[in-house]
Amino acid sequence: EHLTNMIAAGEVVERPAGIVKECVENSIDAHAKTIEIEAFQGGIERLVITDDGCGMDHEDAQMAFNRHATSKMHSEEELFNIGTMGFRGEALPSIAAVSKVNLETNDGNQGSIIEYEYGQLKRKEIYDCPKGTRIEIEGLFLKTPARFKHLKSAAYEFSVIADLINKMALSFPDIRFVLSHDGRVVFQTSGNGNIQEILYLMYGKEVAENAIPFESSDEDFHIKGYAIQPKINRATKYFMFISLNKRLIRSKYIQNAILDAYSDYLPVNRFPIVVINIDIDTQLVDVNVHPNKWEVRLSKQNQCLSLIRSTLKNTLKKSLQ
Ligand code: ADP
Ligand code: MG
Repeated sequence: EHLTNMIAAGEVVERPAGIVKECVENSIDAHAKTIEIEAFQGGIERLVITDDGCGMDHEDAQMAFNRHATSKMHSEEELFNIGTMGFRGEALPSIAAVSKVNLETNDGNQGSIIEYEYGQLKRKEIYDCPKGTRIEIEGLFLKTPARFKHLKSAAYEFSVIADLINKMALSFPDIRFVLSHDGRVVFQTSGNGNIQEILYLMYGKEVAENAIPFESSDEDFHIKGYAIQPKINRATKYFMFISLNKRLIRSKYIQNAILDAYSDYLPVNRFPIVVINIDIDTQLVDVNVHPNKWEVRLSKQNQCLSLIRSTLKNTLKKSLQ
């Protein structure tokens, strides 16, 4: 069991940002309104993720560290109809296998504390703590030197975390995110649903003011987001924030569709800034492709791509008239 957890940890948790992603997704699944992420030394030394979500009762808190103990799936059918972010029940046991974890959680009736050290249960007690969940991770990979070796500098590791939290804030503008590094708050959203405000925090005034909202649908897909006017796109890297049913994804196909739509307007070596969420019946997606859940498989992919292409083309055309 410990070995399985260690192996899975290699896939789910490669670096501090991977842990942050799993924990923040759990907080989102728990309907948190505020999620606070504290990283110390790029998260290599310590990570604390605190939410005001539904919490867990004492039994669930213990169960959470058992492999495939997800509370989010109750039948095989649901495996193909996934509405929540987590569904594999793999994250917490994997994290607990390679670090020291302290979990404090309270479902509003009773609080619990659970502690693991490198796969071993050290403490489980009823414990007085506020409603919601706080998870603290220390000493990542200290017992697995081969993995520890792959970590980069604190500055780099933190930049990966910051990038992730920016993206999550864009996908979940109704959630308040507070990100700090070594005790200093570096990114904070209001949770009032305003995507332009988050673009402002990330890229400044000019980008935020030139963000054009778009929205359209066909019989299967609903797309919604912001396209930044091409004249403002000074970005020399990819700044495309793509989510599917609010789950951040990576897709070369969608990136290319966006590039295609912008191609008539962008100077060479300039790339679009676009925020896009695609809503689709969960029956048409298979997110269960890779444990890190970044990759998805879409039925009717071409139909989706042409909707994105045509919507963006129209949006850009109109904005330039
Ligand atoms: P999954 O998210 O795939 O179900 P995880 O290993 O990430 O698996 O989490 C295991 C379980 O622990 C979840 O199903 C959930 O019941 C519980 N859990 C984890 N984090 C939280 C949280 N922040 N708030 C409430 N419940 C949580
Ligand atoms: Mg999870």
